[in-house]
Amino acid sequence: MNSEIYFDNSATTKPYNEVMEVLQKNFEEFYNPSAIYKNAVEVSKQTDLVRERILKSINAEKGDGLIFTSGGTEAINLAIKSSVRKNKNIVTTAYEHDATIKTVDFLQSEGYEIRKVMPNKDKGIEIEDIIAQIDENTSIVSVMFVNNETGHTIDIHRLGKLIKKSNPKTLFHIDAVQAYMKIKIDVKDAHADFLSISAHKIHSLKGTGALYSKNIQRLKPIIHGGGQELGVRAGTENVPGILAFGKAVEIGSRDFDKNGEHLSEIKKYFLEKLQNIEHCRINSPQNSANHILNVSFLGVPSEILLHTLESKGIFVSSGSACSSKKKESHVLKALGLKDDAVKTAIRFSFSAFNTKAEVDKVCDVLSNALGEIRTITKFRG
Ligand code: PLP
Repeated sequence: MNSEIYFDNSATTKPYNEVMEVLQKNFEEFYNPSAIYKNAVEVSKQTDLVRERILKSINAEKGDGLIFTSGGTEAINLAIKSSVRKNKNIVTTAYEHDATIKTVDFLQSEGYEIRKVMPNKDKGIEIEDIIAQIDENTSIVSVMFVNNETGHTIDIHRLGKLIKKSNPKTLFHIDAVQAYMKIKIDVKDAHADFLSISAHKIHSLKGTGALYSKNIQRLKPIIHGGGQELGVRAGTENVPGILAFGKAVEIGSRDFDKNGEHLSEIKKYFLEKLQNIEHCRINSPQNSANHILNVSFLGVPSEILLHTLESKGIFVSSGSACSSKKKESHVLKALGLKDDAVKTAIRFSFSAFNTKAEVDKVCDVLSNALGEIRTITKFRG
């Protein structure tokens, strides 16, 4: 990337060099894991090792299952659609990723009752508000651990315990796409029935994800065909993606503490530097995830600033990558932000590859660009 600065790591991440090496090797050992000759059986063993590695990384228990999918979106669909029951309700939040929002909206159009908890402006989603929505007919609670636009977090470990206390039959799904390899996840402690993750957010490939399931029998296939993935997810496995995922999990687990500290320093430093920039509003709460920082630069529409930064080789986003074509962020709106803050929001998202020198450069460019644009638009705050 040379002089480019990539601050859009919540959209996707640069694959590790070691991931590329794994891919090269797999292209040579290209066998279908369902075949029964030795070379193919070896490939199947390797994908199972990745399965075990991921299960270990979230402290799953013996007997728990993991299904490889085409990404976070499919994992979320599989978890929620497997859990709906006639005359039962689904509890989620109004600031979920579209993978959840669009899934529950579809289910609502099919006649299911959906209960969306609204976030609180300052505290985000309050656990008590989720619990208040659960009754004897709640089939599943589905929430994200880390919000992809603002970094708001929910204490999923406390939430899980309270869900099961409220209704032991209610299933619990965690969208951990933005949290995995950034914040410790313990599916046992969280009483999670399902957990969705995605490889391209942790320096591996797009088009690969996984769904943890406490009990595989609960899953109802949404893709029908061959008997791959324990008969739950048909289609020849994305072996290169799975093996690359395994390598990224190996590196991410090894460097977990170091990366966490680094990300926290980068964000702290960025926040300090932003104090010198006028009329900016920090939309991420103080206790937000280390890798996401959402800021509104009042008076400067996101798109204009985004393209100005791009012209200087700096890549950021105005919201979630998937919603970049949408006019306004449903997340920021649900959080009660005023119109001017919603229209001027920029998401900076970091990875372990980012440096403080990059933050310096971005803040210098920001200062100049904001000054110039605000002069043209005659913004005075
Ligand atoms: N959930 C969250 C919180 C996300 O940020 C994303 C992607 O941005 C997804 C789900 C969807 O994951 P994928 O891109 O692997 O389908």
